[in-house]
Amino acid sequence: MTRDPRYDILFEPVRIGPVTARNRFYQVPHCNGMGWTQPRALAALRGVKAEGGWAVVTTEEVEIHPTSDCEPFHEGRLWDDRDMPALALMADAVHRHGALAAIELMHHGASCANWGTRLAPIAPSHRPIIYYAPVQARAMDKSDIRALRQWHRDAALRAKQAGFDIVYVYCTQDLSIAQHFLERRKNDRIDEYGGSLENRVRLLRELIEDTKEAVGDRCAVAVRFGVDELMGDAGITHDGEGRDVIEMLADLPDLWDVNLSTWANDSQTSRFAKEGFQERYTAFVKQVTGKPVVGVGRFTSPDMMASQIRRGIMDFVGAARPSIADPFLPKKLEEGRIDEIRECIGCNMCVSSDYTETNLRCTQNPTSGEEWRRGWHPEIIAPRKSEGAVLIVGAGPAGLEAALSAARRGYQVHLAEAGTELGGRVTREAKLPGLSEWARVRDWRAGQIERMPNVSIYRNSPLEAAHVLEFGAWHVAIATGAVWRRDGVGRDSGFPVPGFDGPGIYTPDDIMAGRLPASGPVLIWDDDHYYMGGVLAERCRAAGLEVVLATPASIVSAWTVNTMEALPIARRLARLGIGMLTYSSLTGYRNGAAILQHGVTGAVTEHAAGAIVTVTARLPVEALYLDLAAREAEWAGAGIASVTRIGDCWSPSTIQQAVYSGHKLARELDEAPEGDVPRELPILEGMA
Ligand code: ADP
Ligand code: SF4
Repeated sequence: MTRDPRYDILFEPVRIGPVTARNRFYQVPHCNGMGWTQPRALAALRGVKAEGGWAVVTTEEVEIHPTSDCEPFHEGRLWDDRDMPALALMADAVHRHGALAAIELMHHGASCANWGTRLAPIAPSHRPIIYYAPVQARAMDKSDIRALRQWHRDAALRAKQAGFDIVYVYCTQDLSIAQHFLERRKNDRIDEYGGSLENRVRLLRELIEDTKEAVGDRCAVAVRFGVDELMGDAGITHDGEGRDVIEMLADLPDLWDVNLSTWANDSQTSRFAKEGFQERYTAFVKQVTGKPVVGVGRFTSPDMMASQIRRGIMDFVGAARPSIADPFLPKKLEEGRIDEIRECIGCNMCVSSDYTETNLRCTQNPTSGEEWRRGWHPEIIAPRKSEGAVLIVGAGPAGLEAALSAARRGYQVHLAEAGTELGGRVTREAKLPGLSEWARVRDWRAGQIERMPNVSIYRNSPLEAAHVLEFGAWHVAIATGAVWRRDGVGRDSGFPVPGFDGPGIYTPDDIMAGRLPASGPVLIWDDDHYYMGGVLAERCRAAGLEVVLATPASIVSAWTVNTMEALPIARRLARLGIGMLTYSSLTGYRNGAAILQHGVTGAVTEHAAGAIVTVTARLPVEALYLDLAAREAEWAGAGIASVTRIGDCWSPSTIQQAVYSGHKLARELDEAPEGDVPRELPILEGMA
């Protein structure tokens, strides 16, 4: 296949100072939960992206000094020479595939408490550090500023020595000391580093000049800059000081990588922002600099990418999430395999990896974070080791991924689905407010397997144990999913909630099937704490019902702090007129009233509720598996070697985990059973 000429523009080489990028695909910095703790895993993750055609592959934030210690978050680290070999591993992995390696040097200033090193954080002026930690950053004097410049310069030299081609000066996401100097609200200095914008931008200018002088002969110097903080005049705006800064520094750096600040504004989920949403903020940058510009906006559509380049919005298609969801996006486009591109769904499970400090995970790409640990490659999978057929029961995310990956191994795959539609929970959930892009989990997989000659799909085929035994496949995977509980058992109550066995109780499955209460008020009982309670509240409100959401947590949709959605969700619910009751346990439902007990005061109150939507927990749909397990003696006679539960049928969890489970099953067919999760052990100095 050959490339569509409409996309030729995306494959033009672009010069960045002393280096040249082979095309316009630029993996901008992104966290991954591994950072300095797992250098081999990280090198493999970044190397795969270079192999997939990205012209520039960048690190995450890399701490330059112990006074910028992000613990407990795992970012990159370049405190001294001892950190160079770990970073060199990554640069080498990227170079092996012909890409440029970029490093984002970072001093966090007043953004981290230095919990690990216990050193006092530093800032332009005395300020508490963000994230509500009971720690303050102390105001820097001139010698501190001189020291900071030296640390940055030393880190740049080490980065160059470690093999990096592009060295960043970081000034965005409210996580950078240079940005803190810029922000009026954080800088009340009266010397030449405070007051006028020219003074507040001084440190950023000096860091760029220092870096150019130190490494500019061989390395390009990039600036990552947040043009707008989305807080109006209280912060930097794209038509105010954001623009002024770029005009002042215009051609000083070799490249501008521009975005929105903070990270939550920058990496909004598809529930809150659509592809290309940053254009209106960053479009001006190319008008005020002659240097190449990188822009982001969760780009997955090649037409949108080409259009942004053609219209002069940017020179490079910047991507973090689209490069995680499909590390081979550029290569597929280059080879005319556009249908094979696995598009990011904008769910931010990847972001949660950073927040939970665990290996990068992605809903769309199950190999993400497993490149080194399990040796999983996103595009390569070992050929089958037997001739036997594989029967997969259930075409939700787990079943679809298992079918696709087993088929890629060369197995003859049979996929049976009880319903008329493929996709399972994804098909149901994608119809809920704001979640339409999640259907890509189904569409990409269905699109791939429908073209494969070795996959047969049987719709409207609810299977029972007798059918499976009759079918006689060598391997059977049961991916029959899970259903939401109706009895209220969950985290808050280990026992059924009194009154939940009567009328007026609805589950998420009811709402998704269109069985909405005829009248309100509706009380959403959210003891799940992820997105479901919030989107069901929106769904019921859109049907004209009065809605209140009650949760035992201190905030609504508490787990979504890890996907950076907690605040946008609360704001949206408030805007829609949905009431929110926190610290509230639902202890019973009687006579059209929900009985709530306050988690702080213990006060018991009654809330009129025509209906309760209970969102607490799920139960696996495991009858088929249990029937088969009870008939294990018949398996051999039926030609069955294994029957395995996967996805929600095995353990109800996230869509990401279901996809992962299906992928793992396919990788492990006819392989020796795997032992523990492989792990990266630290290398102890002085020990071989
Ligand atoms: P997961 O997230 O684990 O993939 P889902 O709930 O999304 O689980 O999908 C399960 C799918 O399995 C649903 O589409 C459902 O219709 C289907 N299914 C459930 N039981 C059977 C069965 N006995 N035979 C065939 N398909 C089934
Ligand atoms: Fe996109 Fe979700 Fe994957 Fe992140 S986890 S890259 S948002 S699909």
